[in-house]
Amino acid sequence: MENKKDIRSLTFDRLGAELEKMGEKPFRAKQIFKWLHDKQITEISEMTDISNALRERLDEEYSLKTLKTVAKFVSKVDNTIKYLFDIGDGLIIESVLMRYSYGNAVCISSQAGCRMGCTFCASAIGGLERSLSAGEMAEQIYRIQRDTGERVSSVVIMGSGEPLDNFENVLDFLDIIHSPLGNNLSHRHITLSTCGLVDKIYELAEKDLQITLAISLHAPNDEIRQRTMPVAKKYDIDSVIKAAADYAQSTKRRVTFEYALIKGVNDSAENASELASRLKGKLCHVNLIPVNDVKEHNYIKSSEKNIQSFASVLRARGIETTVRRRLGSDINAACGQLRRSYMKDKALGKKGAATVKI
Ligand code: SAH
Repeated sequence: MENKKDIRSLTFDRLGAELEKMGEKPFRAKQIFKWLHDKQITEISEMTDISNALRERLDEEYSLKTLKTVAKFVSKVDNTIKYLFDIGDGLIIESVLMRYSYGNAVCISSQAGCRMGCTFCASAIGGLERSLSAGEMAEQIYRIQRDTGERVSSVVIMGSGEPLDNFENVLDFLDIIHSPLGNNLSHRHITLSTCGLVDKIYELAEKDLQITLAISLHAPNDEIRQRTMPVAKKYDIDSVIKAAADYAQSTKRRVTFEYALIKGVNDSAENASELASRLKGKLCHVNLIPVNDVKEHNYIKSSEKNIQSFASVLRARGIETTVRRRLGSDINAACGQLRRSYMKDKALGKKGAATVKI
């Protein structure tokens, strides 16, 4: 692998500073940033209004990383599309396009693999392979827009990886993706999901961005949380909820608590009641997710009836609660499952859904 810096990972300010050092005029940064993030080109040679000499210089100094689509799975049920992208070094990441009445949402990965080790999560099984650069996060959106010809109107950083474990690159990505000179995606349409790295949540709050914070809680107390999420041994549940409340207060943005319901583990009426007590009075909302069964672990999703009664307990206690609709159920469009099965057998075309080989 070449060691050149990826030009697509540079924020507009940094690109400007680097070009200035090369003796270029400030307007060049605007032109080049537009090529990279508005037109979303794949080769430096496509910058047709930049002189040959400068393009050659850029080629010498930088690489321009583009993700290669290795497979695409289209759900017959709801048109959800799951993409597998090759990021080099034999690594594969996944991104999902979901269609809602309000527009297209994309779920992006922030790392290849993950080192948080949550026992219900397929992304955690092989550990962390590596963190993604800002450009690689943006590229997931760009390639999907290019493929569908449709604009992505919201982004959730909920694919594989722990975004707050890749803090600087995620901040650069947020800076790049909302630039009006580039893709121009409002921070209000971006959700970052974390397993609850408390120190980083405070740091993020200080940045005062308008993104929505989602916290993977998945348990009403430390005892259950520590059984499924190793990170809970480092940060107790009350400190996570307190950090979330601080985020809500300083950004005035309502925080989402995600709660995957696992049969017999965290889904009793008593669990719901304990959760309600902990969240009472907080500017928040709970999103209940029927857990996706992962073969490697013996977790089974709660029954529909149980999910509804869990939701009723929370609502009766004044906690706003939604139950997540499952999209792409026929294409394993959840939580690292597809990437994992792909990496395992490396054979395409085995899935039940329509498989489009690129
Ligand atoms: N590391 C971040 C973001 C990636 S995981 C986080 O922990 O939030 C995205 C979401 O999917 C998290 O809420 C995670 O807990 C959840 N998730 C992981 N495996 C799951 C499964 N088998 N069923 C349901 N949700 C799962």
